[in-house]
Amino acid sequence: MLEPVLLPTPLVDCTDEVFARAGVELRLKRDDLLHPAVPGNKWRKLAPNLAAAVEQGHTRLLTFGGAYSTHLRAVAAAAAALGLESVGLVRGAELADRPRNWSLRAAERAGMRLEFLTRAEYREATGRADGSGASTATADAPWRRWEPCLVLPEGGSNALAVTGAATIPAELPDLGERDVVCCPVGTGGTLAGIAAGLPPGARALGVAVLRGGEGYLEAEVARLHRAAYGREFANWRIDHGHHGGGYGRVPVELASFAAEFEQRHGVPVELRYVAKLLAALADLAATGAFPPGTRLTAVVTGLPDPE
Ligand SMILES: *Cc1c(COP(=O)(O)O)cnc(C)c1O
Repeated sequence: MLEPVLLPTPLVDCTDEVFARAGVELRLKRDDLLHPAVPGNKWRKLAPNLAAAVEQGHTRLLTFGGAYSTHLRAVAAAAAALGLESVGLVRGAELADRPRNWSLRAAERAGMRLEFLTRAEYREATGRADGSGASTATADAPWRRWEPCLVLPEGGSNALAVTGAATIPAELPDLGERDVVCCPVGTGGTLAGIAAGLPPGARALGVAVLRGGEGYLEAEVARLHRAAYGREFANWRIDHGHHGGGYGRVPVELASFAAEFEQRHGVPVELRYVAKLLAALADLAATGAFPPGTRLTAVVTGLPDPE
């Protein structure tokens, strides 16, 4: 068990003019406070996978990520805390000989072994990690030489991860018709879990942080629902209008929105996901997308980067 630092995480009211003017309530679910090294949704999604790894007698975790992947750092830290080995397959063969950036250095410092793949190798490899935890490796899969190991998909979203994220709404009392529980969407695992964990009447809203995800992300959420629960859910949707230009892109206006929100409410706002979520909700509220009386709960899924 990877011990949480704070669970259940705090639920705080957030009085903000933009929302108040629209007659909409905003609350923040402070999952960023869950664990300093395995924050927010990374902890929620990893916890059941780690329990399964230990139960199945695995001694090594293997996963995938880009040069600044929070998931990679989280897996490295979680494995170290549990005394497991970890291997990270990193997108970008050219990174192998360069000085490590802060993110990869943190993963290595936690004990993760890094292996660098070309973009084509990476695409091929991540496409083959089906997320069931079982290695579907054929003889030439790039993780073959690390077996036996538990393979976690890129971003960490598999059926178990979804059940982990489903514990978020379980910590929100009295959800009903007027409630919309909101989170950013990278791979969709967190949104899938939140939707699955809601009581009847309440709905989930995801805000895509990448461009061009229409259709693909919805299909991913539905696939994860089938994998985790053997059925689909109809209580969620994804907003595709607030990605700010694409994954990792942070337009100037978004950065100043985040800085102002942080100042007003004293909550550190992570830029790649959380800022896009909060800015989207403010915009949607201002343009009348939510009927008056709606209560929004924004899940603060992570922490700002240390650098
Ligand atoms: C990884 C991450 C996400 C993405 O979650 P998915 O389950 O992949 O959709 C959201 N917010 C933060 C802060 C993250 O680090």
